[in-house]
Amino acid sequence: MSELRQDLATGDWVIIAPERLKGKSLQSKTNPPMTDRPAFEPSCPFCPANEERFPHVEVDCIAHPDAEAGSRWLVWGIENKYKIFKHHDSGPEGLAAFERDGPYARVIGQGAHELVIESPLHNRTFATMSPGEVEAVVAMYLRRFRALKQIPGSLLTIMFKNHGLRSGASQPHSHSQILSCRVVPNHLRYMLEEGTRYFDTNGVCVFCRMIEFELSDGSRVVYQNERFVAYAPFAQPTPYEVHIFPKVHDSLFEDMSDEEAADFADCLRATMKKLYVALSNPDFNLILRNPPHHLARVPFYHWHLRVVPHLCGAGGFERGSRMTVNLVVPEDTARELREATAD
Ligand SMILES: [Zn+2]
Ligand SMILES: [Zn+2]
Repeated sequence: MSELRQDLATGDWVIIAPERLKGKSLQSKTNPPMTDRPAFEPSCPFCPANEERFPHVEVDCIAHPDAEAGSRWLVWGIENKYKIFKHHDSGPEGLAAFERDGPYARVIGQGAHELVIESPLHNRTFATMSPGEVEAVVAMYLRRFRALKQIPGSLLTIMFKNHGLRSGASQPHSHSQILSCRVVPNHLRYMLEEGTRYFDTNGVCVFCRMIEFELSDGSRVVYQNERFVAYAPFAQPTPYEVHIFPKVHDSLFEDMSDEEAADFADCLRATMKKLYVALSNPDFNLILRNPPHHLARVPFYHWHLRVVPHLCGAGGFERGSRMTVNLVVPEDTARELREATAD
């Protein structure tokens, strides 16, 4: 028997239908461990030894603590060569108005598009990094976030990461992407509206309410430390999806203190290690859900990170109905991940 579950934050319905999995495998193919890959790849544009062959525009860099490591950087911030949005000079007036083409709106793709190269080693990923290495990546995320926010007229900073072919990754060397963008996507506006409505009705942030319940219930918690929790959402849209939240209300990712950043890095590393172990180095996306800049420090939105493994593709039902069918039970995935090692 399938079950429909509603996401409290978005109003979206998800169909949990584990019987559809019977006789089939959730993962059609698993990846070999990262250690099977070479630590250096001669054709990789992000391996430090290839820097002269593939020059990049550096925007930031965290120096490598080991002078003998063969890389001057531990984490590297560069401009993306293939930008979705180009750097722009919008001038003191900010952004230009949209152009009109009959009834349609159009605007030049202004913003910024940068990459964070997370390790000098070609075969490293969060799951195989040391705690200190993940902390350095988080420090770079925060530095670039705070820098891109200063771009005049930027409305939203977007951050995501692709790992593996099914996630859309084109380069296997581990990296994240940060974009500054001058429009706010509808799904985010919708979540902000739902959050506002919930706050106006109940006087509390909808995410704080869910976090409080998940911590007391425990059945969907995957990992937690003092300041962060990772749990499988009640209406888990895709198998083994995990969301990472600060436990105390905080609307903005980039407002984190050093102590919070250390706990976030710990929660991220542990979650990624558990998925890596339980699902054999799965393809995945990380998607940050941060509000647009003009809605900073609001009581009705709570930043979080979606961790979305890619085990099986969406079918026609999902594409047609815009509802997702999850072939596993969220509580089962949380139990499996809780029991997987994070060491
Ligand atoms: Zn590489
Ligand atoms: Zn909250």
